[in-house]
Amino acid sequence: FSINMSQLELEEELGRGNYGTVKKVLHKPTKVYMAMKEIRLELDSAKLNAIIMELDILHRAAAPEIVDFYGAFFIESCVYYCMEYMDAGSLDKLEGEGIAEDVLGRIAGSMVRGLKFLKDEMQIIHRDVKPTNVLVNKRGDVKLCDFGVSGQLEGSLAKTNIGCQSYMAPERIQGESQNNLGTYSVSSDVWSLGLAMIEMALGHYPYPPETYENVFAQLTAIVHGDPPELPDDRYSQSARDFVARCLHKVPSMRANYAELLAHPFLEEDRNRHVDMVGWVARAIDYREAKSREQQKQQQS
Ligand code: ADP
Repeated sequence: FSINMSQLELEEELGRGNYGTVKKVLHKPTKVYMAMKEIRLELDSAKLNAIIMELDILHRAAAPEIVDFYGAFFIESCVYYCMEYMDAGSLDKLEGEGIAEDVLGRIAGSMVRGLKFLKDEMQIIHRDVKPTNVLVNKRGDVKLCDFGVSGQLEGSLAKTNIGCQSYMAPERIQGESQNNLGTYSVSSDVWSLGLAMIEMALGHYPYPPETYENVFAQLTAIVHGDPPELPDDRYSQSARDFVARCLHKVPSMRANYAELLAHPFLEEDRNRHVDMVGWVARAIDYREAKSREQQKQQQS
């Protein structure tokens, strides 16, 4: 079946991204809450139709580590994209002061399985692995969203987000500056996974903007500096090695997904109990306390 706007009751805004807003909506016929992303594109209806057709393959992307796709439609020059509502939001806002090793292991396991599913079953390279694109619900499920399925959609979105917080692998940063877009391979996603894990461990982006004079200096550090590492006082040797296997400067030296799944860090994860439900609840409390604090500061 297909979804259209008249079936949806709009609720609160969940967030704003680079390309549009995400709202919570109720799909009245099924009583299912969904997240609806609005992407404004100045395109004619033939092009918008082509995008909707391309997005259709997302119906096949059903896996426990992938946010469910419910359908897409367009009105005037906006594409509306309906997906599973994840009631704890994105990982970037759940990091707090840094995520402990056992929870980080659970998250890494989900991310690797999700990325492997996309590659093996869908022949999709994610291309935008970062904490904002990893969503969590109160049951403790961790799922990927926002991967590049529609060439037409990707092509129409202005590439505005080079800089500030780049999760791009060194070879991609270099390829981009040489205008060489053919260098993207699955190993670039593995780099982004490693960088995302360091960010989650630290509670902030590993190349903090304060440290660099400008975006160019920051990108230079990614390309020419040593890759970042997990802090050795809070993470085990196996966790540190797992991340190091992702953050090799040379793409061919990085681990592939099968190797990451067999890594001791994820093996240990499979053999221990982790209270993900408790972690999500505490992370939400922390996020809400922080946001109340910020509101107070803004008022005073
Ligand atoms: P970006 O362009 O930065 O990746 P998005 O536009 O995808 O951001 O999303 C903006 C925000 O909306 C996210 O950071 C997240 O908090 C929220 N969001 C996105 N998708 C969902 C979803 N399926 N369920 C709940 N919240 C979501």
